Amino acid sequence: MPIDPKAAYDDQNVFARILRGEIPCNKVYEDDHALAFHDIRPQAPVHVLVIPKGAYVSWDDFTAKAGDAEIAGFIRAVGTVSRQLGVDADGYRLMVNMGQNGHQEVPHLHVHIFGGRQFYHMICD
Ligand code: AMP
Repeated sequence: MPIDPKAAYDDQNVFARILRGEIPCNKVYEDDHALAFHDIRPQAPVHVLVIPKGAYVSWDDFTAKAGDAEIAGFIRAVGTVSRQLGVDADGYRLMVNMGQNGHQEVPHLHVHIFGGRQFYHMICD
């Protein structure tokens, strides 16, 4: 079910629990601003999620409330992870689902990095 992107942050959401080390993840990168790990249900040969360390429900919440250093650090981390994964050579797709129409399911901002093959269609549903 899609989440309400305007709801208060739920600190029991699965990515909050991963950040606290309460449940495991297949980590690929971590710095002061971001944690990246493989998606548990990959939809491409490479499917990695990058999440900010701060408690932000959605892209909307993050871009409205996060400080400049957090935003810059998070965006830079997405680029760093992409290069670390090696998908920068052939290209990749970034996706952020936001709220009901975006069909966001986890109420902690995450950027999907998809790679390892070509994506022909802009949107499929
Ligand atoms: P979204 O629809 O953008 O909210 O996507 C949520 C993503 O989180 C989906 O691709 C799920 O497969 C992924 N996901 C959910 N739980 C976990 C988990 N414990 N570890 C890694 N990925 C997860």
